[in-house]
Amino acid sequence: MDISREDRRQLAERRRNAEQAEADAASDALYAQCVEEVKRELANDAGRFRICPYKACRRSRRCAGPQLLCHALYRRPLMSFALEQIVIDDLYWEVIEQELEAEAEAEAEAAAESGEGAP
Ligand SMILES: [Zn+2]
Repeated sequence: MDISREDRRQLAERRRNAEQAEADAASDALYAQCVEEVKRELANDAGRFRICPYKACRRSRRCAGPQLLCHALYRRPLMSFALEQIVIDDLYWEVIEQELEAEAEAEAEAAAESGEGAP
């Protein structure tokens, strides 16, 4: 069967789009994790678990509820919205950098290993 050049091009594009969608989903998931981590940390530092309606938070003396009520509950905000965004972004990019470093290290190790067997 002859596959047209246009079909090949479109198939490659579909694959690229699928990869991009996967990468976007992974970015979103990581960002959501960073948001959660920062909010729980802020709430923990402020001792919000003491007044949280979730028993899990009061019992474990840290934000442990299924939702971030410790953070949401406030008599006063834990941090300005703008500052919180900066902290979250910093964490996000820190994680990405660590991932890239780990990736580069793994690649270097693999290259060194495959090089060891060579004459
Ligand atoms: Zn809580």
